[in-house]
Amino acid sequence: MNSNDTIRPSSGLSRRGFLAASAGAAFVAAAGDFPGTAQAAAPFVLPPLPFAENALEPVISARTIGFHYGKHHKAYVDNLNKLTAGTEYAGMALEKIITATAGQADKAGIFNNAAQVWNHTFYWKSLRPQGGGEPPPVLKQKIEASFGTLEACKKELANAAMTQFGSGWAWLVLDGGALKVVKTGNADVPLTKGMKPLLTIDVWEHAYYLDYQNRRADYVDALLNKLVNWDFAAQNLG
Ligand code: MN
Repeated sequence: MNSNDTIRPSSGLSRRGFLAASAGAAFVAAAGDFPGTAQAAAPFVLPPLPFAENALEPVISARTIGFHYGKHHKAYVDNLNKLTAGTEYAGMALEKIITATAGQADKAGIFNNAAQVWNHTFYWKSLRPQGGGEPPPVLKQKIEASFGTLEACKKELANAAMTQFGSGWAWLVLDGGALKVVKTGNADVPLTKGMKPLLTIDVWEHAYYLDYQNRRADYVDALLNKLVNWDFAAQNLG
């Protein structure tokens, strides 16, 4: 699976859509004759988590994942469906919505929810059980070229995560051939600045408060050493 798989609206049908489609072969044939028509009508869906809710314990509890994925991430999907219903954005690829609405005050609701759907899907893939450790060689070489050492890169990521005032995200990105660490506030995502995200750390309080309360540094440190998915970051190098 690459990062594009789950950040677009479902290419399949919702359960209800599937049942409706199953009930009428004529509908299936019609959709087959006009590729894209069924997809355009499909709502945005909450992508499945890439691991079980308790798979990141003890670093991130099943209770945190239950709220974070099952309530917060889901709410962004639900809100996006409400806000885009009947508009030009319904069924559009998330990246396209994000870049089309960034910086437009009258589109802030659509931007925030579309970006938060994308950011969270990307965050789950940035983590894995028994993560951390050494990046694959292709990524490690890039990290050493840009930061000197892996430790220096992790230190910069931790610093970005700690100094993001209030809610937001810390990112490892590819920017014009070099790796960089950047931070964004609220729903903002480096895609809007032409940078290619490789991995992200959610520093909204809902990401860690049940497990770490105010100790954001402990959450970030544990994530970087025990959960970070360097394979996913390497895949995103493209
Ligand atoms: Mn979050």
